[in-house]
Amino acid sequence: MIDLDHPEIGFAVGALKEAAQLAKRIQREMAPTALTKEDKSPVTVADFAVQALLGRSLEMAFPEDTLVAEEDSATLRSTQQQGIQNQVVESIAHSVPDATLEQVYQWIDRGGKESGHRFWTLDPIDGTKGFLRGDQYAVALALVVKGEVQIGALACPNLGGGSLIIAVRGQGCWRTHLTGPEGFEKLRVSACEDPAQARLLRSFEAEHTNVGQMDELMQAIGVSAQPVLMDSQAKYAVLAEGTGDLLFRLLSPTYPDYREKIWDQAAGSLVIEEAGGRITDLDGKRLDFSVGPLLTQNRGVVASNGHLHEAALKALRAH
Ligand code: AMP
Ligand code: MG
Repeated sequence: MIDLDHPEIGFAVGALKEAAQLAKRIQREMAPTALTKEDKSPVTVADFAVQALLGRSLEMAFPEDTLVAEEDSATLRSTQQQGIQNQVVESIAHSVPDATLEQVYQWIDRGGKESGHRFWTLDPIDGTKGFLRGDQYAVALALVVKGEVQIGALACPNLGGGSLIIAVRGQGCWRTHLTGPEGFEKLRVSACEDPAQARLLRSFEAEHTNVGQMDELMQAIGVSAQPVLMDSQAKYAVLAEGTGDLLFRLLSPTYPDYREKIWDQAAGSLVIEEAGGRITDLDGKRLDFSVGPLLTQNRGVVASNGHLHEAALKALRAH
């Protein structure tokens, strides 16, 4: 069974449950408006609020630990859109009634992107576009020590009625409800060995992958079903649960030099491995989390239940 008395495990579970409640509350109560970041990607009140709350919780639980996270306060400070800053402060008042805007900026900036020997990495809202559409998104948190992910946790409010998935290196991958009954069940990837039966998962956003190459690969491997489109590391949770079998993050023809960010991969990668699956880059190399916020040593991602992995890599080599 998973050891909730272990300080880091207990922290990850508690912090993600709180974060998921916050994200859901914002979705319910505030018509989510998106700001556009420098890289043109959207960011919402929820991204800032969740990062602020997690930054604060980490400061209290492990004051020595660094946080490498997606957002920074500069975008929030400089927005011309009225009321956004206040919405962030108000949204966390449920957990921190006396929070000030200056504190919120500081908590967000605890996620400054310096990684080190031991750090946490956070995507406060992975799949912001899914969050805005009301589809899948995840709060993704991982603990990385000496370049190895030791704990990976995903809160997926729109998956299976609200799921929290946590993997601990050497101790398996577990799922519980975000709200409601306590108790964890162990997750195991599917046993599917036949590509013709494989259920393929893909990013919802076509520009995050290469749709043409995906079709060619499916033909080469012999996958017959159409891919299931889903945002965020919720796909990794689905693989770990055994309700999906294979996924590719191919390089978009528009951004051929795109490199994955650690907060988009760290938690999900351990979730897959501890459920018995396999995750590599497109060349079959292990994901290297020791080189900073970008996976500069890797191109793209292949994740599978393990059984289908060699066939996937072989098809990639041929293409
Ligand atoms: P997904 O919904 O699986 O595509 O994952 C969402 C994540 O994709 C976002 O959090 C971004 O960090 C990441 N992303 C953004 N642009 C790209 C891109 N051009 N290629 C791959 N991933 C991207
Ligand atoms: Mg993300």
